[in-house]
Amino acid sequence: MNEIPSTLVLIVDDDPGIRALLRRVLSQDGYLIAEAEDGEQALELCERLQPAIILLDIMLPRLDGIEVCRTLHAQGRTEDCAILMITSMSDEQSVDRAFELGAVDYIRKPLNLPVLRQRVRHLAVGKQAQEAVKKAHDELEERVVQRTTELKAANEVLQHEIAERQRAEESVRLYADVVRNMPISILVWQLAEGDDAPFFRLVAANPSAEKILGLPAAELIGKTISETLPAGLHSDLPAIAAEVIRTGQARDLGAVQYGGEDVHTFLVSVFALPDRCVGITAEDVTTRRRMENALYRSEQQLRRITDNMLDIICQTDVDGNIQFASPSCWDVLGYTPDSLRGQSIYARVHPDDLAMVIDAIQTTGRVEYRYQHADGHYLWLETLSNFLFEGDAVPQGIIFASREITKRKQAEWELKELNRLKTEFLTTAAHELRTPLTSIRGFSELLLAREWPPDRRQRYLHMIHEQANHLGVLIDDLLDISRLEAKRALTLALEPINVFDLVERILPPIVEAAPTHEVEIEGLQDCPPVLADPMRLGQVIQNLVANAVKYSPNGGKITIRGRIVDSCLEFSIQDRGIGMTAEQRAHLFEKFYRADGSNNAVQGTGLGLSISKLIVELHHGQIWAESEYGIGSTFFFTIPLAASQDQPSPH
Ligand code: ADP
Repeated sequence: MNEIPSTLVLIVDDDPGIRALLRRVLSQDGYLIAEAEDGEQALELCERLQPAIILLDIMLPRLDGIEVCRTLHAQGRTEDCAILMITSMSDEQSVDRAFELGAVDYIRKPLNLPVLRQRVRHLAVGKQAQEAVKKAHDELEERVVQRTTELKAANEVLQHEIAERQRAEESVRLYADVVRNMPISILVWQLAEGDDAPFFRLVAANPSAEKILGLPAAELIGKTISETLPAGLHSDLPAIAAEVIRTGQARDLGAVQYGGEDVHTFLVSVFALPDRCVGITAEDVTTRRRMENALYRSEQQLRRITDNMLDIICQTDVDGNIQFASPSCWDVLGYTPDSLRGQSIYARVHPDDLAMVIDAIQTTGRVEYRYQHADGHYLWLETLSNFLFEGDAVPQGIIFASREITKRKQAEWELKELNRLKTEFLTTAAHELRTPLTSIRGFSELLLAREWPPDRRQRYLHMIHEQANHLGVLIDDLLDISRLEAKRALTLALEPINVFDLVERILPPIVEAAPTHEVEIEGLQDCPPVLADPMRLGQVIQNLVANAVKYSPNGGKITIRGRIVDSCLEFSIQDRGIGMTAEQRAHLFEKFYRADGSNNAVQGTGLGLSISKLIVELHHGQIWAESEYGIGSTFFFTIPLAASQDQPSPH
């Protein structure tokens, strides 16, 4: 009985004797035994111990066997435990009732122990079998669940793989479409072993490859590289392809050209493929190359032009920030093109011209203005500007062409100034000429009007003569000035001159006429000769000596000095006369200037010093004066020494 040791049998009987008997017998058979003496206890033990078999007496206190059955049946316990009813001979009805409520067998009292043992054993075996079946069922159930889960997971993986594959197939299809329709030639070659050397056979090519093969690829499958590709392309290819297969490294062959008159350019790459194959891509860039070359040539041409232009070419954005400046900005403005890039084109415009420049760029596109050179000084630029449009109505930038016009501006200014001076000069000259003319006309009218006593007549004639002389001097001076200023018709007859000798010749007539003056000469005797026109230099000295006498009416000492300064003779003449104020001195060398216009006692035209200045400057010298009002004046001029004159002609 050892094969069913763990079966728990609950014995329910109110008769202790029967319970003891059953316990003994069944214990011997190896069952585990629990006992209950009434119905309630039986239910309570059932609940707690869950026996496999219940031996249940029908007649029980508290709750009879039928009620116990009913309760267990209601609780669904009768499925799990086998109920063996113990009944008396006469109680057929109860047995039927018990069967209805889930009991599986019954045995009558008095108990036949061998039958009982047999029945219990039968139930125990059945129960065990039922449990084994249940266990197997549960295991099966569990395995089904587990398997279902596994299958579900496997299915998901499968679905995923299918979707992936579909995607891959789709992408392969698209890829194939791309390859087929690509404008680049794609050729696949397979390495084959030949008799003497390995060679390649064409295994696939896209339709674009016809461009390079000359025939549809389908007609050339199986042919070798040299049989299919143009000579200029195939020469090194087999060796390169073999190397690509050997190393697995793709090779970019760059631009390959072939063809006679009509040269084609291809960008060629070779890459390894499985099965001893190589892929070759060849992109026809002939047209692009031609366009690039043409563009490059025209850019170079333009660049050469802008690089060599004297004008400055600048391109800015719409706000005037410089994007490009031609190299001439260095020559003209002293800035390198790089240093200007990113800066505002207006940054160095003269502040006074800025508003005008901005306005002109927006309107007329032409402006003349001052611009600051890198060294700080301002020069004049003339700029033409234009907005740059790229397709639409919104300007993308501004292009400027600027030219330096400083010299032109200077010339314009000088011309204006010259015109002004000329007008002024003519007005003054006319005025100066009119004064003696008026005297001449007045006195001659008096003479013509009536008879005058001889002495009056003589005086008037004398006045007319004097004014005519003055007019003559004035006209001579004016002619001199216009000749000297024009530097025309006046050639200096340069020769080495000893200035001391020249002074000695000039002085006597003047000194004789000025008995109250005393002339002394210092240093001039020792000076070497100067290179000068003797007539013109004499004119200067005569003028200065005459002025020294004229403007020192009280006489006094006149000192003439000579000394050497920087390869020049510095000549000076000092008088102790009326002198000049600083204001008078400032105008000294202006035409028709006379410090004291009301001083009619001193004759003069106001042109002597202007003429002297022109003459000295034509000799490359300088002239100036120092003076103190009421004390006297000293006039200086310099003339280069003859010894230092291997050089300049005065013109
Ligand atoms: P002019 O003597 O005919 O008036 P200049 O051109 O020689 O004309 O001189 C211009 C003016 O300069 C004179 O009118 C006089 O006012 C002033 N000036 C020239 N020399 C002297 C001098 N030595 N001392 C003071 N004033 C002088």
